[in-house]
Amino acid sequence: MSKQVLPLWINGQRTESTSLRRADIINPASGEAIRQVPLANREDIERAVAAAKAVFPLWRDTTPLRRGRILNRFRELLEANRDELAQLASEEHGKTLADAAGSVQRGIEVVEFAAGVPHLLKGEHSENVGRGVDCYSMLQPVGVCAGITPFNFPAMVPMWMFPIAIACGNTFILKPSEKVPSCSLRMAELFKEAGLPDGVLNVVPGDKEAVDTLLAHPDVRAISFVGSTPVAKYIYETAAHYGKRVQALGGAKNHAIVLPDADFDFTADAIMGAAYGSAGERCMAISTVVAVGEAGDALVAKLKSKAEKLVVGPGHVASSDMGPVISAPHRDKIVGYIDSGVEQGAKLVVDGRGLKVAGYENGYYVGPTLFDNVSTNMTIYKEEIFGPVLIVLRVNTYDEAINMVNSNPYANGTALFTRSGGAARRFQNEIEVGMVGINVPIPVPMAFFSFGGWKSSLFGDLHMHGMEGVYFYTRTKVITSRWPASDEHVSPNLAMPTL
Ligand code: NAD
Repeated sequence: MSKQVLPLWINGQRTESTSLRRADIINPASGEAIRQVPLANREDIERAVAAAKAVFPLWRDTTPLRRGRILNRFRELLEANRDELAQLASEEHGKTLADAAGSVQRGIEVVEFAAGVPHLLKGEHSENVGRGVDCYSMLQPVGVCAGITPFNFPAMVPMWMFPIAIACGNTFILKPSEKVPSCSLRMAELFKEAGLPDGVLNVVPGDKEAVDTLLAHPDVRAISFVGSTPVAKYIYETAAHYGKRVQALGGAKNHAIVLPDADFDFTADAIMGAAYGSAGERCMAISTVVAVGEAGDALVAKLKSKAEKLVVGPGHVASSDMGPVISAPHRDKIVGYIDSGVEQGAKLVVDGRGLKVAGYENGYYVGPTLFDNVSTNMTIYKEEIFGPVLIVLRVNTYDEAINMVNSNPYANGTALFTRSGGAARRFQNEIEVGMVGINVPIPVPMAFFSFGGWKSSLFGDLHMHGMEGVYFYTRTKVITSRWPASDEHVSPNLAMPTL
């Protein structure tokens, strides 16, 4: 039987792609192709950009209060349809339904933040910067913006971008991951139902051809990207080459430092969720534990016993703690990393290779995997694995641990587990990472703060959502004004005025 082919969403309508290229969307729990997605071509992107450009003046001039009201209605519709979005995310990505619902909720919170846009767009005003002269600033939209998103958060990561861009008066083209496009298409329908004018949000699933067309397109003014580091770097350099503003978030290797005074039960439980939730396919997953001094033995014993108890199965089955990974090639890559860890001399404490789930033998499962005695020259330390593989490195001192985190090229998130306020204070001061947890394993900032890493985890300077998101999607204009009285005479003055 031929599979359903998803549409594009252009100018407020489901639209057929003119591309002949398609990709299968595979349910990773079963390995079955469930539907197909067109890979948007240059012509499709041209149509989306034209629609977004045409409606921009109308949307820019729609009052922020009205834009905020549409966002509020959108938030209500997202809440009413949260289960459907979670189900789509789970089906295409593989994560458990509870995890998918949580990530949809975190996306909805960005919409909630963006709905307050009249307040967020207030500029500054200074009266009498000179005699009779006032100065004020305005935040104005940049125009047509585009977002390119990864497979691992089918609803949440797109919602880091388009609600804020649109709230600020921009129009938007979303290029979701071709592996998980359904949530984005459904959200676009819901936004229309909430009252969004046609063309303000367009969704064009696709691959490199679609991305490259957006990057080079003269009518696209800003690019937001989330994905792997090599692609993030490419997006940053190419978008900058074409004169666009760009924020490009990349991969991660997040370390948790565990000090000997930590509560090991609490810490091991926290690390379980952070390492194995979403099968380790989170950019904020803790993949690396740095155990200081005698923390190592106690912690590894607890991690082992907890990891062995995790239930792996399809995301829609309530008893599953952890679902499959995204694809067969990705599963094989993860298994290759585990093989390399063994070959390079790390101690394999829990082995997730070769796992078969009854009834789902063709699914892409890797069980929770734990390595001890890993060193920094091993491949499993140096590379982002993006799977359910947790590695433990042992060091003697807190200094060594901090130095290890600060020497790593990635700097997305990190966490410290301790009972010492002094150690925690030193950590927040000295650690060179964008998002920091203190006894919090996955320190994802709430929507009203900004999300982003440092170093190879983010190219650009403004992070996602929160006020940095508002600044990314607006241009600041500063106006200096003077209204001379009709009888006021000003003599010509060729020197730099000093007010
Ligand atoms: P990816 O880089 O393969 O793909 C991301 C997006 O870029 C997709 O839309 C894809 O179609 C597109 N793309 C892929 N290759 C391209 C190319 N050569 N040229 C142009 N576009 C291309 O990433 P992924 O596998 O979908 O997602 C996993 C990665 O994303 C991990 O590295 C993870 O750490 C990272 N990630 C980072 C964050 C963060 O906030 N820093 C959040 C989520 C995921």
